[in-house]
Amino acid sequence: MELAGIMDILVVGGGPAGLSAAVNARRRNKRVGVIGKEVMSSKLWQAHRIENYLGIPGVSGQELANAMRNHAEAEGVELIRDEIQNILFADQLFTAMGREGQYMARSVILGIGVVQEAGIAGEERLVGRGVSYCATCDGMFFKGKRVAMISYIPDGEEEARFLAEICGHVVYMPQYNLRQITDPRIEVLKAKPLEITGEQKVEGLRTADGVIPVEGVFIERPSVSIARLLPDLKVEDGVIVVDREMCTNLPGVFAAGDCVGKPWQIGKAVGEGQIAALSAVKYLESLPG
Ligand SMILES: Cc1cc2nc3c(=O)[nH]c(=O)nc-3n(C[C@H](O)[C@H](O)[C@H](O)COP(=O)(O)OP(=O)(O)OC[C@H]3O[C@@H](n4cnc5c(N)ncnc54)[C@H](O)[C@@H]3O)c2cc1C
Repeated sequence: MELAGIMDILVVGGGPAGLSAAVNARRRNKRVGVIGKEVMSSKLWQAHRIENYLGIPGVSGQELANAMRNHAEAEGVELIRDEIQNILFADQLFTAMGREGQYMARSVILGIGVVQEAGIAGEERLVGRGVSYCATCDGMFFKGKRVAMISYIPDGEEEARFLAEICGHVVYMPQYNLRQITDPRIEVLKAKPLEITGEQKVEGLRTADGVIPVEGVFIERPSVSIARLLPDLKVEDGVIVVDREMCTNLPGVFAAGDCVGKPWQIGKAVGEGQIAALSAVKYLESLPG
């Protein structure tokens, strides 16, 4: 399904928080799109048996995930599989840039789960100067050049193959248990990245064995860091700061679920998703015109 036109509310993340927000916003007759990196929250999917979700003791994560998704679809929520890379605001509209497309909305609810923040020395400083998180978006800047890809998840293998089509040489550094990459254009290096080096732009990648010369470093993590998603969003101790109405410091941006803090629980995520939706509806109604 495509999300053509302008949504009232764009929900980022298809877990319990995001889907609860979406269903509740639909009940208020708003046009709602949910963009999820996965078909359904992998966290919920992993939960073998859930005993504390009120009314359905002993439900499996998969059963609950399917029920939530079916509920959202039956309410007319538009579900799209994509990963949002960052969100821009201009002319009273939010534009979320995904790997596959761009999505426009008048308000945004973040239900992105627990997010890992940037961690490699030099990474933050060299973002946009050779450090990238999206091969599709930035691969062409490195045409014919030597690049490295550090990947914490198997999805990076596909990205590395894509880069190999464009770049001269790709060094693939899996930070998980890689079985095999057979592509001769990709050099696999099983090492821990210690530092991305370079002053004005990326010049190399330091491991325990020395510095590998590269002009670009692509990083693939399970989730996009909040700082990259929305640079002006207030974050403290790794969680998005919200008030009791699930409002962030940015007007029109709301957040719910694990991404706003502990306890990391389904019941909390669902409740906060509902509050975020009602706050987003209130915000939309306060807009001129
Ligand atoms: C093994 C296990 C067992 C558990 N058991 C229980 C239990 O018994 N009871 C209980 O209450 N809780 C349990 N939990 C916790 C529960 O699963 C979480 O608290 C809940 O899923 C949080 O919901 P959420 O919507 O906030 O985040 P998530 O479920 O993590 O969903 C967030 C979604 O957003 C997506 N996303 C992130 N960034 C982006 C982006 N940039 N673009 C698009 N999509 C993005 C993610 O891929 C993910 O699908 C368990 C968790 C695990 C792992």
